Amino acid sequence: MVKIYNSLTKTIEEFHPIKENEVMIYVCGPTVYNYIHIGNTRPVIFFDTVVRFFKYLGFKVTYVSNYTDIDDKIINRAKEEHITEEQVTEKYILAFEKTCERLNCLRLDFNPRVTENMSGIIDFIQLLVSKDGAYEVDGDVYFDVAKDPDYGILSGQSIENMLNGVRIDPNLRKRNPIDFNLWKETAEGKNWPSPWSQGRPGWHTECVVMINSIFHGKIDIHGGGSDLKFPHHENEIAQSVCANGHKLANYWMHNGRIDMEGEKMSKSLGNVVWAHELLDRIDYQTFRLMVLNVPYRQPMNYKEELLEQAKKDSEKIYRSYLTIFRQLELSEKTKPAEDEEIKTLRAGFVDAMSDDFNTANAITSVFQMTKLANSLLREKEQNLPRMTAALNLFGDMLWVLGMNFEIKPLSETDVSLVKKWHEARKNKDFQLADELRQQINAKGIIL
Ligand SMILES: [Zn+2]
Repeated sequence: MVKIYNSLTKTIEEFHPIKENEVMIYVCGPTVYNYIHIGNTRPVIFFDTVVRFFKYLGFKVTYVSNYTDIDDKIINRAKEEHITEEQVTEKYILAFEKTCERLNCLRLDFNPRVTENMSGIIDFIQLLVSKDGAYEVDGDVYFDVAKDPDYGILSGQSIENMLNGVRIDPNLRKRNPIDFNLWKETAEGKNWPSPWSQGRPGWHTECVVMINSIFHGKIDIHGGGSDLKFPHHENEIAQSVCANGHKLANYWMHNGRIDMEGEKMSKSLGNVVWAHELLDRIDYQTFRLMVLNVPYRQPMNYKEELLEQAKKDSEKIYRSYLTIFRQLELSEKTKPAEDEEIKTLRAGFVDAMSDDFNTANAITSVFQMTKLANSLLREKEQNLPRMTAALNLFGDMLWVLGMNFEIKPLSETDVSLVKKWHEARKNKDFQLADELRQQINAKGIIL
């Protein structure tokens, strides 16, 4: 049974899907005006791992994440680069997708964009207005938070507290200073006609509309970074309660942020680590291992030592996996036989992942796996069915963590070459062994 920490109820809950054996999951995606830094990769890597685990368990998963492709930041970037807003968003969507691919993330089922959902967004705001959850003032539309008795449930604050916390908004046209904008009249940047004015929607409506249009109802999991809890997710819930009569998702999950050597990562501090630049110097397995080694709800403090450690660990896992993989390639094919030890190891991995996706403990299981693999390889009489089962489990674990090391299989000639080399070493014919090793290296075979 998978257990999830639900940010909405602030408790660990058993996961019960809405539809049997299916998972509907939505994660808020990036505003596409720049490359992503490593902090932005945390939800990408983590939720990809969540999806992988559900798939491993046999669930049919529908995974959706949006692109916010209208925003002031996009307008400013277009001005800076002397290109259109579309050129900005196309450029950074492509860059984002390339980075996700380099991080070995599975492809999503849908990546809706705001610009493609404009009529749905306008219809939805009209619905909120008709239900008296929203009101128009001179071409702008606001959501009336006082209409939602549960407003503040996710971020754990009362409306009074929020009012104390906000600077008094000079916009006196709002009924309540914390009412948020659904539509704004503007001639700046891309804009659309609407019943209220020529303008564009605020940020908080798009996800609700996209979820409604793709899933046609409540979903299982809504995810995102912890910085999105308030106001973004709080506002999504308020709109959904008003329009749909439910809180949009059964489980709300939030990952912690990534700090840089103890400081918030920001352009003004000049300490931003761009994901694509980091991927130029390390492999994605190291990157994922580093991120997944910290339980997802905790903040993560990025530093070079963490990266160095992940590099060593990833190399260790790869060597162990490669050795057992090659050993089996050189042996007769056999059916796998999971004995108690392997079954226990598999159960340990699944338990860790089922415990609110405790990837750090799941990685501990991977290290136990490397130990087992190494001990199996040292056995005088090799138990091939057991070794095959161990390799299968090893492969499953790595797949769930998105660290599948692709090893080029040996051809028949390669197999006989490597066998001859083993033979020569066994017979202590070092000269022949050296020659064969050189041939192996020349063919680019990694052993
Ligand atoms: Zn969202």
